[in-house]
Amino acid sequence: MTPIRWHLAFGRSMRQFLRSTLGFSVLATLLLAMLAAGEPLVHGYWNLGYKVVQRSAPSDVVLVTVDNGRDWPTARQAELLERLRRQMPRRVLFDAAIPVGESAEGDAALTQAVRSFGNDISFIGRSDKVDELGTDSISVPPRQITGNAPILLSAWRSNFVLYATSSPYTIALGGKSYLTVASQLAGVSSGIESQFYPDFSVDPSSIPQVSGAQLLQQDFPASHLTGRTVIVTGLTRTPPILYFGHGFAPAVALDIAGAEGLRAPFSISFGPHIGSLPILLLVTLLVAAGSRAAGRRKGLWYAIAVLGALVLPMILRCQGMVFAPDAAMIFLAIYGGLRSWQKRARRIQLTSASGLPNLMALANNPLPVGSDMVVAVVARYEEMLATLPRDLHGECARQIARRLSAGAGAETIFHGDGGHFAWCEEARPLEVQLNHLQGLHALFAVPMTIGVHTFDTNIHFGLDRNEGLDAATRFNSALASANEALANGRVIELFEANRLAEAPWELSLHARIEEGLHNGDIWLAFQSQWDLQDNRMCGAEALIRWNHPTRGPIAPDAFILQAERAGRIDALTYWVVELAITAALALNARGPRFQISVNLSAQMVDKPDLVQNLAAIVRRRGIDPTLLTIEITETSSVRNRPAACQNLTRLRDMGFRLSIDDFGTGEASLAYLADLPSDELKIDRRFVSRITTSSRDRAIVANTIALAHALGQSVVAEGIETEETLAMLRDMGCDYAQGYHLGRPKAFTLLEADYDASLEGRADPGERAKSV
Ligand code: C2E
Ligand code: CA
Ligand code: CA
Repeated sequence: MTPIRWHLAFGRSMRQFLRSTLGFSVLATLLLAMLAAGEPLVHGYWNLGYKVVQRSAPSDVVLVTVDNGRDWPTARQAELLERLRRQMPRRVLFDAAIPVGESAEGDAALTQAVRSFGNDISFIGRSDKVDELGTDSISVPPRQITGNAPILLSAWRSNFVLYATSSPYTIALGGKSYLTVASQLAGVSSGIESQFYPDFSVDPSSIPQVSGAQLLQQDFPASHLTGRTVIVTGLTRTPPILYFGHGFAPAVALDIAGAEGLRAPFSISFGPHIGSLPILLLVTLLVAAGSRAAGRRKGLWYAIAVLGALVLPMILRCQGMVFAPDAAMIFLAIYGGLRSWQKRARRIQLTSASGLPNLMALANNPLPVGSDMVVAVVARYEEMLATLPRDLHGECARQIARRLSAGAGAETIFHGDGGHFAWCEEARPLEVQLNHLQGLHALFAVPMTIGVHTFDTNIHFGLDRNEGLDAATRFNSALASANEALANGRVIELFEANRLAEAPWELSLHARIEEGLHNGDIWLAFQSQWDLQDNRMCGAEALIRWNHPTRGPIAPDAFILQAERAGRIDALTYWVVELAITAALALNARGPRFQISVNLSAQMVDKPDLVQNLAAIVRRRGIDPTLLTIEITETSSVRNRPAACQNLTRLRDMGFRLSIDDFGTGEASLAYLADLPSDELKIDRRFVSRITTSSRDRAIVANTIALAHALGQSVVAEGIETEETLAMLRDMGCDYAQGYHLGRPKAFTLLEADYDASLEGRADPGERAKSV
């Protein structure tokens, strides 16, 4: 990458970062930190932190108190120093006020005592103010006493509430540079910064302390001070200082804490601004990781980030590394605030009035793998709402959702306006899924009670099974199907079945059908047809079957339609015809005439090459075409009616028998009958199944039989499921019968066995055959 390109790419990702919640939070944090807005946070942090983290002061520094200055004239101070000298301390720091000029003798004695210490004594000059270093208020001990002894100074910077924070290593006063007490004690006189920070974990009350008066009374163990650093101090000499975690503490405690700070293993600090960046960086990275993680992990990252901001600065500081937590805290507050605000806004946006998640929430989330999308629409939902008081509207939706959730076993039911509910279901085989939805439908047969109102409800389902498409597309598919089901009064509308133009399933159908034919997943079932006059099996209808390896059995209605759309119906049909011919040849070789029916898709009836292809097959297979019946359905999807009529006439002329399937259900069955030279009518099972219970259907069937006979056609009744129906049809003069009661569609070998049994008179048409 060239530098310019790199530059551009960097600029782009930077802009992106700054526009993100994370980036915005970092930017706002830096701004606020620059305005010192973090100071209260830092103060609270250290003050609270050092209440928790505490330890004892080192034992090598002992305070000898000379409190109440009036009791300590110079003569007595001289006496004290003499006593001290005999204890052989390592060094003495003289921190008490020296009342020079009160007694010349005393002053001389003190001067003498100091001289006899040689280099082992130094004096401390203090600022009596704790503020921005108050150097102008430092009082230096009188030269006449100190002589050449070194002078150390002690003065502290403070924060905005006057808690001591840091001190320089050296202080310039009157053109001279003095070492500070802590630097001297620790033997460290410079660092990365020009200032250092005390270790406030030193508990000021634990500093070893001896009363000067006691020392003078001699009732004091010898060698108690031997080898130690002794600070002679008047604890009330300067106003006490504010010390993190302890409030007011003697000023000298700060010098000792300062020395401890300087003695820490790593003395690293970068000042309040830069020093707060490392923790900010770390916390930002943790939060960034969290924002990318999912579910529980997210919470874990955030917890680590918060813990890091809270605990790490303290841990580091105990090692001498001063990194303030304020920027990280500000960042966490801003980021946390923004995120919870966004979440709230999102929640509002993703919840419908009923309190259920709305359809946007559904469409915005990825669907679980292996799931079907179901949309249910409640009929006359608006009417229901209109009769309910407003405050019960939400309850109405929630009750429907509860019923759906219980029935569907779905955890979350999404709710849109206008009585639409949606959820995901595990993708089961189609038949199982359809049964399941039928069951769910039955659940809504029970009226709903909302408040004092009772409603009869009806519900319709749209099902989308197009795994792999995005949630929004699938939701829209299922929604469209649900609306269609509602409009047509059907319980379930399968999206897959009627509108799959772009679905990957359909795009790859070509290959799948080829594969299914090849490996036997697609096979041909045969359902027997019986002659009612002489009670014998006289034929069979070929019905296609598909046991899809992953989708389970696919209903022929469904995949025939898809095959039509995918342009694969021709191949399928000729495959059926070939197998049907094999079956016809085999069965006709055994006994009396056996007719095989095949279904011809409406898509194919008007095809110019239909007749030619069928003729070629018949010729090649050497079969008498009159043994084959072509079943055609009246559908509006025949595009070229004249061409269809011409084809069918030619096929009939060739010898094929023509049968009008599903008679009575198409819009123009009669017109069809008038136009087409057919041989047979198949009365749809919708009428047949009800003749025993409905006199109207009985009349329709009886009249259809009469009509067919009048036109010289035979009649097949399909969908016979009971003996009673069969008997009634026989009485009505129906010629042929087909239905589960007489035999289910089954593999050819099984049909063959049934046929042999029927020839031997072992089976009668009333026997229910094994199903497939
Ligand atoms: P169809 O031509 O009306 O076929 C009769 C349907 O009724 C078959 O459904 C059959 O299993 C079912 N059936 C038979 N007896 C009974 C009964 O007693 N009770 C009930 N409830 N149903 C019964 P199937 O096999 O699911 O086929 C559905 C439709 O798929 C067929 O309706 C036909 O339109 C189409 N189809 C099947 N095979 C082919 C084929 O090879 N080519 C074409 N183009 N369409 C086919
Ligand atoms: Ca049929
Ligand atoms: Ca039919």
